[in-house]
Amino acid sequence: MKKKKALITGASRGIGNAIATEFAGSGYDIYVTCKNSFTELQKLCDELESKYSIEATAFQADVGNVEHMDRLFTEINDIDVVVNNAGISYIGLLTDMLVEEWNTMINTNFNSLFYVCRHAVPLMVRKKSGKIINISSVWGNVGASMEVAYSAAKGGMNTFTKALAKELAPSNIQVNAIACGVIDTQMNGCFSEEEREALREEIPADRFGKPEEVAKLALQLATGNEYLTGQIITLDGGWM
Ligand code: NDP
Repeated sequence: MKKKKALITGASRGIGNAIATEFAGSGYDIYVTCKNSFTELQKLCDELESKYSIEATAFQADVGNVEHMDRLFTEINDIDVVVNNAGISYIGLLTDMLVEEWNTMINTNFNSLFYVCRHAVPLMVRKKSGKIINISSVWGNVGASMEVAYSAAKGGMNTFTKALAKELAPSNIQVNAIACGVIDTQMNGCFSEEEREALREEIPADRFGKPEEVAKLALQLATGNEYLTGQIITLDGGWM
């Protein structure tokens, strides 16, 4: 039987890596991308192919670059699931941010949704089925001091999710987002031990989330209820 195909952006480490592993373990052929760490990404593909007998294809492509995404989709002509995961953070006062840094943030965390979906959606509409899962943040729901650009990009992602869900529901394509709290990845590597401890104390579950927990929810959204769409599902251990 033909395997289902999933594209996961930003899979060289962290949450994207866990999502790629979860989907491969469920028998999906996967396309995965990263901007810089191609050796790690190719290694992941090799491991997943030999462990799960699926096809895993790695692409070095910047999600925030429209030409890169146009090129990526010359290689992809069938897709069942898209997980828009690639993202970057920026911590600092808004007024200290350079225009270049702002543009990189918005291109990577927000414009990328359009650059990917403009190609993926027609492939899904053709089949009258598909799932789009956007990896968002609690800051997209409530906003964070020192993370204005990141919050704005993820807030945009949330509204993009709700609007696209309405547009695509007649084509039986579901669009949902997972608004993560603190997940233990390299993205939070900037925090000191004291800062990590203070953050943990704020979280009712008394720990950071694991990338594998996000991955399990992503797979549930990809394989589950076709009436569930346009939702921003918070996964934060009760934090917000
Ligand atoms: P990591 O920094 O651990 O991993 C980010 C991944 O995205 C890497 O594979 C990186 O690869 C890739 N990436 C970054 N920029 C680009 C780009 N321009 N084009 C293609 N790939 C890119 O982060 P996380 O795993 O923690 O984060 C994944 C997602 O989850 C992000 O969207 C983030 O905003 C979101 N999130 C994370 C939270 C957390 O606490 N960790 C909380 C809330 C949301 P490379 O470096 O090779 O380019």
